[in-house]
Amino acid sequence: MISKKMQGFVANSSAIRAMFEEGKKMAAVYGADHVYDFSLGNPNVPAPDAVRDAIVDIVTGEDPVLVHGYMNNSGYEDVRTALADHLNGLYGTSYGAENLVMTVGAAGGLNVILKTLLNPGDEVVTITPYFGEYRSYAGNFDGVLVEAASVPGTFMPDLADLRAKITDRTRALILNSPNNPTGVVYPEAVLREVADLLLEKQKEYGTEIYIISDEPYREIAYDGVEIPWIPSVYPNTVVGSSFSKTLSLPGERIGYLLIPSEVDGFADIIAAANVATRILGYVNAPSLMQRVAARCCAEKTNVGYYDRNRKLLYESLKEYGYECVRPEGAFYLWMKSPVEDEREFVAKAKDEEQILIVPGRSFGCKGWVRIAYCVAYETIENALPGFKRIAEKYGL
Ligand code: PLP
Repeated sequence: MISKKMQGFVANSSAIRAMFEEGKKMAAVYGADHVYDFSLGNPNVPAPDAVRDAIVDIVTGEDPVLVHGYMNNSGYEDVRTALADHLNGLYGTSYGAENLVMTVGAAGGLNVILKTLLNPGDEVVTITPYFGEYRSYAGNFDGVLVEAASVPGTFMPDLADLRAKITDRTRALILNSPNNPTGVVYPEAVLREVADLLLEKQKEYGTEIYIISDEPYREIAYDGVEIPWIPSVYPNTVVGSSFSKTLSLPGERIGYLLIPSEVDGFADIIAAANVATRILGYVNAPSLMQRVAARCCAEKTNVGYYDRNRKLLYESLKEYGYECVRPEGAFYLWMKSPVEDEREFVAKAKDEEQILIVPGRSFGCKGWVRIAYCVAYETIENALPGFKRIAEKYGL
């Protein structure tokens, strides 16, 4: 029999993944062109050509023993230096290789930092709605995920509720901006208010409360919106990121943790993160992809492609009468369900129109749905009549 703890994880296993599997089955029945799968955040923009060129160059030009070998658990030093230099160029910081741990995607990085920080029963606060896996990641280390509300309509952190949710057991606040699932971006003024609150609470309890900034969507933002660099706002910030979305490499599992020297307990944390990487069984982030990341970290994905999708989907759904949050970043549209129980709407969209979307309760927020628009433009065009028919059936 499987462990009790694992039984809990299996029971709460991702509805997003379940929908994705359902989509594949439906494609076999209806034909792939007649199933409109908006369930998964799997970028359909190909990786930049520079990624392919780098792979070829590395496997043909670099020492194969080095390219495919073990290295320091934190990752290759030259790779970490290249990423630190890149971040310094963007944010005017002075990070070095010693501030980086290469990780197995953003998910791997979150698990490494939570393993590093959590004692059993410690609390990890996050803002609803949120990437549902956070609950399992905290649970992996016997931490407790605590939900703090967002402001209805804007989906910014609700400061009063955040204040109420921070206790002497709070070890970390996970922030995710640009946000999955809402597409909102937290402006600097909001982050400053959050930072002030955390500083106050650290003082009150005599504890350290870290912000874990989960930002795999940092470079996917629209209309010139600025994505503030959170370590400049709150010194006890650890950044977790990846190249899954920004270079369209989700299956390659490559990302990093950035732990600034200003973070309380820096030396212990970086040393522990190094060990956590090893004993979680990752040992180190994928070697070839580390070397690719070093060469390609300044490459950009085709944000214009997602922007075109965003505009078509948002404008059309609004026109049909749906209430939507205008996405400022990432590639998700957050929409209010026309009926209270969003599962009814999700089921109707699937059964009557072959449209696959994800219920908001997967993100800790009932009554809403997430539509991932990292799909072909034609998929959106072809799905729109179905969205319109459903809107009409609900009398929007
Ligand atoms: N955090 C958020 C908010 C995400 O949306 C995702 C993936 O969708 C992850 C983390 C995990 O990213 P990765 O594939 O780089 O592990």
